[in-house]
Amino acid sequence: MATTAIPTNPSFSQTFYDSLQELPDGERIRACLQCANCSGVCPFGYIMDYPPGKIISLLRADIFDYVLKTETVWMCVSCYACSEVCPAKIPLTPGLMTRTKEELLLAGNVPSELQNALEFSQRYGNPLGESPRKRAVWTEGIDPDIKILGKYKQPVEVLWYVGDYPSYHSRVQLATKAFAKILNALGVDFGILGREENSDGDSQRLAGERGLFEILAEKNGVAFEKYQFDEIITTDPHAYNALKNEYPKLGINYPIRHYTEYLLEKLDQLKPLLTQSVNAKVTYHDPCYLGRANGIYEQPRTLLNAIPGVELVEMSHNRTTSLCCGGGGGGMWLDGFQWEKAHVRLSEWRVREAVASDANILAVACPYESPRFEDAAKMVQGAGKLLVRDLTELLTDAMGI
Ligand code: SF4
Ligand code: SF4
Repeated sequence: MATTAIPTNPSFSQTFYDSLQELPDGERIRACLQCANCSGVCPFGYIMDYPPGKIISLLRADIFDYVLKTETVWMCVSCYACSEVCPAKIPLTPGLMTRTKEELLLAGNVPSELQNALEFSQRYGNPLGESPRKRAVWTEGIDPDIKILGKYKQPVEVLWYVGDYPSYHSRVQLATKAFAKILNALGVDFGILGREENSDGDSQRLAGERGLFEILAEKNGVAFEKYQFDEIITTDPHAYNALKNEYPKLGINYPIRHYTEYLLEKLDQLKPLLTQSVNAKVTYHDPCYLGRANGIYEQPRTLLNAIPGVELVEMSHNRTTSLCCGGGGGGMWLDGFQWEKAHVRLSEWRVREAVASDANILAVACPYESPRFEDAAKMVQGAGKLLVRDLTELLTDAMGI
């Protein structure tokens, strides 16, 4: 690390350090032990110039300016692994790393790939740059018709917040349609927002764009307010995290469940419909925003165990130690950047673990994962026969629908 020629700004370091202490549990930053657990567990800790503990040491030395001059902070995929192992229980992912990215954005230090996704989110309401008018195109041909609340104009029991990738990405749409079939088979009275739905904004927030997150959240809040429903469900752990933990801070407060929680409650009704044997060794990948961020580990496993013919096996990293797919915290839009820096894909590490577990199916429960792991499986030796299946797809296979 160069120690000369970089101007320092002690007052800025101090102001930033103080602002961190105002965050929930932020005062714990003072208890950092400099144990380096965070950098050890970080999937890109070996690439980052300043993993969390080192940022704290720079803050203490009043030289946070160094951090703003490196781009390797963008290797942080907001996976919560550091927060999980920090003995001082410092909110490293939602606090320190997110606030640091906010400062990098303000300093104009942002990879162009990420900039594009943020601009698309602002302009179109989704990071893929797709037309809002096409948000419900995936529903065409589904029988019975899916109620789009702006047209249906009646109360429903459940509002399904669909999300960006489930709405637009051709691979993820397969899982979206599978979930629609499950809801229909269970006779659930549900509707969606269609073009009135915007990105949940959580990954943009974790990538440092809090202002954009608030704009997107407020647009969704306005849409929610127009309709009558009892609760919101979603297949997207990032949307779940936003609606459960972040929207209430903006006064947007609705009951929200991830679909694995919702289906588990309906397991007695679902089980008799699971008539076909899947006959496979299945390993389950815990998504960071379902597992470490929100403590949902057992519900997806219970659903998998309810499927006839499923033998559930665990990868060496599972539950709290699950490895990130690389898509969180803006990572979904930084694949080129990550490859340039690390020459490795986190999704390939995970697929190697799935192969080592001897599973023939890698089951996922987050819309970022099926495309990432399917791409990775093409690159990993021995993964030729590994199928990547969304939990919703495995359920519809077992239902024969
Ligand atoms: S794990 Fe926590 S206590 Fe240890 S160095 Fe990192 S931030 Fe500090
Ligand atoms: S959230 Fe994950 S990627 Fe980011 S610093 Fe912590 S361990 Fe590393």
